[in-house]
Amino acid sequence: MSPKRSSASKREFTRAKRSIPGGVNSPVRAYGSVGGTPPFIESAKGCRIRDIDGREYIDYVGSWGPMILGHAHPKVLAAVREAMKRGTSFGAPTVRESELAEAIRRALPSVQKVRMVSSGTEATMSALRLARGVTGRDRILKFDGCYHGHSDGLLVGAGSGVATLGIPGSPGVPKAMTDLTIVAPFNDLAATRQAFEKWGRDIAAIIVEPIAGNMGCIPPVPGFLKGLRALCDEFGALLIFDEVMTGFRVAPGGAQRLYKVKPDLTTLGKVVGGGLPAAAYGGRRDLMDRIAPAGDIYQAGTLSGNPLAVAAGIETLALLEAEGTYETLAARAGALAEGLAERAHARGIPFTARHVGGMLGFFFHPGPVENFAQAQQSDAAAFKRFFAVMLEQGIYLAPSAYEAGFVSLAHRPGDIARTLDAAEIAFDRVARLR
Ligand SMILES: *Cc1c(COP(=O)(O)O)cnc(C)c1O
Repeated sequence: MSPKRSSASKREFTRAKRSIPGGVNSPVRAYGSVGGTPPFIESAKGCRIRDIDGREYIDYVGSWGPMILGHAHPKVLAAVREAMKRGTSFGAPTVRESELAEAIRRALPSVQKVRMVSSGTEATMSALRLARGVTGRDRILKFDGCYHGHSDGLLVGAGSGVATLGIPGSPGVPKAMTDLTIVAPFNDLAATRQAFEKWGRDIAAIIVEPIAGNMGCIPPVPGFLKGLRALCDEFGALLIFDEVMTGFRVAPGGAQRLYKVKPDLTTLGKVVGGGLPAAAYGGRRDLMDRIAPAGDIYQAGTLSGNPLAVAAGIETLALLEAEGTYETLAARAGALAEGLAERAHARGIPFTARHVGGMLGFFFHPGPVENFAQAQQSDAAAFKRFFAVMLEQGIYLAPSAYEAGFVSLAHRPGDIARTLDAAEIAFDRVARLR
């Protein structure tokens, strides 16, 4: 990248850092672990994203998951425009909120009632409060490397930006909160059972990303999710699937449909808001009816069920219902994951790639990678070099070795081929590191 061409983003980053901590409104956007200046985005369309220096990239971040139809889909824009004409927020019930709730219920049979919130963080936080309220227990169990948003009790052994920064948790989180969070290795049923044998009657819930997507992309090993279901049943704890990333991403019914395991509660976000701020939590009717005002467990939100976000969500879910959508996403992600692995292996680079539906991840690691400890053994220098060369060639990947990548329905085979051509060059450069 010539310095001249990157000058507008550089200038804006310097400016942003004067008024915004780190220059960004969410940590991984700052390119801290890959170095350099993040491109400032001007606009995006389909699978392409354009920065303020006029450079265009094929985008595999997709706003970290929501843009499953591609950016600025005409039908989603039209739905938002139509909604906007009638006003942007009422703080009162609207008909379309029921429509979205019904669409979610149709897709996820485990969800009998659902409450809209504005972010994934809020969804998981609220689901845990409900689990604690219902069971009368305080402890929760999560898995190392899984990310469930930034609420206090969940910033322990967390993935995503927390993993990228290499920090164990965060100052400002009371020890009293993290003491209630038990962390087990992902995909390790024996360790989870041990934790239950020690604290089982105090554990309100297991919260899990059924396919881990915040430490790369790590699918569950056979029997893991079913084993968690059985443990919860044995000890009277609730099972919460955090499908903020996987919901409407890997299959219409999320990971729970794919792996045929029924959680008690599910959290949704990202795709469900169609690129606007919306998320949700839902599950068994008897549990959800404990939420205020139906029940006694309090949770509220000024902008919850916002009409613009609901319109974008409804339109996105409707478009995803078309025949063959998820097959197409899986084929594209598969071609990319396999194409990358082939090219790396041809150069003798230790590399492993996984994909489920439209989500994928790769590690500079010979594999298998089934948990966070293994993910952390991947070659950070190789990733950094690979990332930089790909960006230089117009391929926009997540700026962290611990994030999943996403394909959209707007990624055509030609885009995947172009990406793999860029990867040839990037892997050549990685091979020279060795
Ligand atoms: C992104 C994500 C969250 C947090 O959602 P926000 O909208 O960023 O608060 C929670 N859980 C999972 C699995 C996620 O991928």
